[in-house]
Amino acid sequence: TLALFNEVSRSITTHLEAVALDDVLHTVGEMLPRLLAADQSMVFLLDDDTGRYVLRAMHSTAYPGKALHTSDLSFSPGEGLVGAVARDGLPMSVDSRDMLNGSLGAPSALPGVDGMPLESVVLAPLVVTDDVVGVLCVGRYQQRAFSPAETATLSALADQVAVAVTNVRLYEEVRRFSQELERRVEERTEALAAAMQELTEERDRVETLYRITAQLSSSLDLDHVMNQALKLVVNAVGASRAAILMVDKESDKLIYRAAWGGDEKIPVGGVETRFSRGQGLAGWVIQHRQATIVPDIQKDPRWIASRDRDNKAYRAALAVPLSVGEDVLGVLLLFHKERDRFDEGHLLLVETAARQVANAINNAELYQLIFEQAEQLGNALKAQKIEAAKSQAILESVADGVVVADADGRIVLVNAAAERILDLLREKAMGRSINEMLGLYGRQAKEWMEQVNRWATHQEPYDTNEYLAARLEIGRRVISVHLAPVMMADEFLGTVSVFRDVTAEVEAERAKTEFVSTVSHELRTPMTSIKGYVKLLLMGAAGVLSEEQSNFLSVIDTNVDRLTVLVNDLLDLSRIESGRIKLSPRRMDVTPVIEQVVVEMENRALEQGLSLTSQLPPDLPDVVADPDRVAQVLTNLLGNACNYTLPGGKVVVSAYPDNRKVAISVSDTGIGIALEDQQKIFERFFRADDSVVQDAPGTGLGLSIVQSLVEMQGGEIWVESEIGVGSTFTFTLPIAESETEDA
Ligand code: ADP
Repeated sequence: TLALFNEVSRSITTHLEAVALDDVLHTVGEMLPRLLAADQSMVFLLDDDTGRYVLRAMHSTAYPGKALHTSDLSFSPGEGLVGAVARDGLPMSVDSRDMLNGSLGAPSALPGVDGMPLESVVLAPLVVTDDVVGVLCVGRYQQRAFSPAETATLSALADQVAVAVTNVRLYEEVRRFSQELERRVEERTEALAAAMQELTEERDRVETLYRITAQLSSSLDLDHVMNQALKLVVNAVGASRAAILMVDKESDKLIYRAAWGGDEKIPVGGVETRFSRGQGLAGWVIQHRQATIVPDIQKDPRWIASRDRDNKAYRAALAVPLSVGEDVLGVLLLFHKERDRFDEGHLLLVETAARQVANAINNAELYQLIFEQAEQLGNALKAQKIEAAKSQAILESVADGVVVADADGRIVLVNAAAERILDLLREKAMGRSINEMLGLYGRQAKEWMEQVNRWATHQEPYDTNEYLAARLEIGRRVISVHLAPVMMADEFLGTVSVFRDVTAEVEAERAKTEFVSTVSHELRTPMTSIKGYVKLLLMGAAGVLSEEQSNFLSVIDTNVDRLTVLVNDLLDLSRIESGRIKLSPRRMDVTPVIEQVVVEMENRALEQGLSLTSQLPPDLPDVVADPDRVAQVLTNLLGNACNYTLPGGKVVVSAYPDNRKVAISVSDTGIGIALEDQQKIFERFFRADDSVVQDAPGTGLGLSIVQSLVEMQGGEIWVESEIGVGSTFTFTLPIAESETEDA
């Protein structure tokens, strides 16, 4: 048995590469019954496609050396005895007929040869790395169970067979693959040979073409290109005459551009023919984008005979379109004096040449176009440079400092004045971020730089009128900055900052304010004294006065009053301008202040024959304001109301809460203010052109001071008025936020 076993293993493992799978199966099947003293063997192999174990070889001792017909018997894993062994991967010995035909499989699951049923069987799986690739089955016609030793033998052999089967399969696969490769290589070789053949044929043509290409591509001069091409093509196909006609893109006319073989001289740029696209042979070729061989032009309907006698001499023709991509630029025509002189070979050559010619023409045209455009661009650039130099020169000579930053906030321009005003070296500033200027000019420059950044980072378009005006103090100098965004359409290009040294102006202003304030102060003392002595004289302290004397003194008294008002107004104004005015806003109730002023003014109103009343709601909210200044504003407005209302009129003071403010109004039934004057009255020194106004004492400063005082306290003032009906001046003060707040 051992000898036999060895023989089997050897026969299936040696000469591997020489054997086919069926040979292996045959050898194994043949030997199995002998090895186990049995009658029949069957080999099942897994079919990868179906996943079933298919009977691949069957042998019987009754027919030695013969592979029996294999039916298409197959089992899926788990089905029948074969399926059970395949599923479990374990050998199995069965010797009961009942088991064979009954519970373990269909009656025909394991057929005997010639209808002889098997009585005892032993099965073993073919296992390759955990996969069952097949099942060996050996059976006896009599019931004689296979011993455990026999089962083990079969198992051992199965391992060898499994390896052999796998190897053979692998080998077969490799062989199939290499065959496929070989076949492909062969195919390629054939194709290559064919290509070689074609190539050799092509070579001559290519040589001609190469010469054409070399000639053409070396020149971008259109006329030279065409004449050269004609000569070469004519030489290559042996024509007696050749011409190139081009289509004029605008008129669609055919232009006679180049010719070879005739006597005519074609002017540079060509001559127009009488043909358009679609007319004549050339027109046909252009229209149809198709080359054509004409055996005899004199018989071709497309040919339009010309008056030119010469043309009669030509018979055969070859016409090929000159096209680049989809565009047909023109046509290349070749003629011969004999009939039928051009064939497909010529056509092929000329077509290929035509492609090159067309490309060369296209290149030459492109070159021309590029040349012209370059020239145009060059001129435009030169003009632009001159323009830029001009702007630069203008900017340079401007007295104001100019700093331009691009959209990223980088400085791209600093003029000479900016260098001087900002005390900054141009070379150091250029290209730097405007942010870095912060270090140079400190906190005052913050607003300016923040605005630059805001504009630079903001996405929305800006109003071109937007700007920022600020002041910088550099050392003892005062610089005004005017910053504006540069917009083109909706695009933010950068910012322009204009700097002006306003130190002198600021100083002059300061000196003026100081002067006014000093003079006003100095005037007050003598005036108080004048007023005092006039009062004493009027009271008779220096003896009894005549009527005329007391009249004169009254005039002095009135004028001193006027002067006092003027001086006080001037003082207030200079304080407001120099910022020296001090307000002490606090939480306050306006009602007592209004009442107090009304009491003070009552006498004056009575003297002028006016009624002065107030309408104050009982529960007016507190405001935040300076009581003295509120009184000053109110006195001023009431004074005006009395001044500009004729006797018998009425003056009413009222107050009411309005949103987050308290509004205080002074209404009169006076002369009123013309609409066009209603804004102007808040300007300094403005007085209406009206006799009542001119007769009344006044400086035209009152309302401008009132407006400043109201605005300094966070309020607003406005007037509603009608000529001859009366005026209402209203000002507001902010309501105190809450009960606990006490400013
Ligand atoms: P002044 O009263 O000293 O002339 P104001 O600045 O107080 O200066 O007023 C400016 C001008 O506004 C007055 O000259 C007058 O023309 C006009 N005006 C002011 N208040 C009234 C008013 N209540 N009715 C008519 N005109 C007025």
